[in-house]
Amino acid sequence: MIPIPLLLALLLAFGIDAPAGPPRDATGALAWIAAAMGGVAASAFALGLWTAWKVRRKGFATSRTRRAFGIGSRLIALATLVAFGWIVHGSGWPAIVLDAWGWRGSILVDDALMLAPFLAMQLLAWWGLFYGERAVMGLPASHAGRRVARHLYLKERQSIALVLPVVLIFVVRNDVIDRLWPAWRYHPWAEPLELAALGSLVLAVSPLFIRLAWPTRSLADGPLRHRLEAIAGRSGFRCSDIRVWDTDHMMVNACVTGVLPRFRYVLLSDALIDGMTPSEIAAVFGHEIGHVAHRHLPYFLFFLMGVMMLVTAASDAFVGLEDWVAGLTTVDPTSPAALRDAAEGLALVAAIGVLFWTVFGALSRRFERQADVYGCKAVSCGSPDCPPHFDYEGAAGDEPRRPIAAVCPVGVRIFADALAAVARLNGIPADARSWRHGSIASRIKFLADLAESPAREPAFQRQVRRFRLGLAAGMVAALGLAGAASWIGAMG
Ligand SMILES: [Zn+2]
Ligand SMILES: [Zn+2]
Repeated sequence: MIPIPLLLALLLAFGIDAPAGPPRDATGALAWIAAAMGGVAASAFALGLWTAWKVRRKGFATSRTRRAFGIGSRLIALATLVAFGWIVHGSGWPAIVLDAWGWRGSILVDDALMLAPFLAMQLLAWWGLFYGERAVMGLPASHAGRRVARHLYLKERQSIALVLPVVLIFVVRNDVIDRLWPAWRYHPWAEPLELAALGSLVLAVSPLFIRLAWPTRSLADGPLRHRLEAIAGRSGFRCSDIRVWDTDHMMVNACVTGVLPRFRYVLLSDALIDGMTPSEIAAVFGHEIGHVAHRHLPYFLFFLMGVMMLVTAASDAFVGLEDWVAGLTTVDPTSPAALRDAAEGLALVAAIGVLFWTVFGALSRRFERQADVYGCKAVSCGSPDCPPHFDYEGAAGDEPRRPIAAVCPVGVRIFADALAAVARLNGIPADARSWRHGSIASRIKFLADLAESPAREPAFQRQVRRFRLGLAAGMVAALGLAGAASWIGAMG
């Protein structure tokens, strides 16, 4: 749900100070930027068309083709970020936009232009990969989802809903506050306070943007809705609506948005509702409720803001270190400055990348498992001698109000089937590794073990809780250290 590449791009563009010097040869720099963007686009088209060709030749998508396509798509996402990092920090793009083209101090235009190469590369990459996606999903020729323009339009519309609140944050932060309260920028508390206030704001209002920008409709009143509402009632889960998300059947997906119940929606994609049984849909719905019940969204926000503040603190520490080194040595510190800036920038980007891959990945996979367990409980009967299993929500008449409590073997089976169906319908091999979710096969294996010995669950929950607390403590300690370092730097 969280658009990681976009967040990283925003961090690259606005979170890390770009070197100020304009490029000596602006035309040459623009040519190199175009070449980098062209390279990303060309590899996306090559991968997409190659995958489509393979599928057409075989008549179906082999698991090797699917895996190659999955890995290739991720590499292209990574290449987009690397290219954008170079455009912002290596090519002199910011100086061209702000100084050569004279957009410095404008509202929104400067920020939009800064981000434009990333958005253009992402759009081109989606376009190229679309041919492969379509082939891997095996859509019939008459299908609406086969048309490129409509696919890009839907995808762009979806990502814009996620971009808009974030862009709003940057506008408010960079342009409006600077204009109205110029002194505020230099206040030591400015950065963390702004990030905290604006981050919470975005988390609160982003569901409204999604509601406006994504094509959705309310789930019709009927047995499925009653079933889902019964589960929500049992979980004490409140939301503003359960909505069907129209993707032209290109996506089997579900998500929950928003931290406040008033602005919270559960979205179930059209293909998910058509391709799965009611109890499987209920299991997926339970998984989404699990994210809310365990407060995963606010924790992610805390984590992301901590990383941003660490980056800010780290760049401050770099400045302090430089001054200190400059005071010690007699060597002219200005001459290798460009090289040093570039190396520092690269080191910082690499450090953020590693932090994301390891810590964020590990956290995200644990949260997914926790949500999986919750999804199992949502469709479990709670009877200690199941099977026979009883489907309370499917039964007519009054359903006993029982809380979400324990997993039962059949409930786990239903949830595992739902996971397998999601993989199958999306054309993903079950053993494909996913950095954020873990592979479907490993998730199913974990649940099967749990069904065998449900007594293991409390130990698992404790383990996740400990990881969460440990990470928070580590983050606070690192921020404290960074604060102390910059304070010492300021004293020296
Ligand atoms: Zn999830
Ligand atoms: Zn049962």
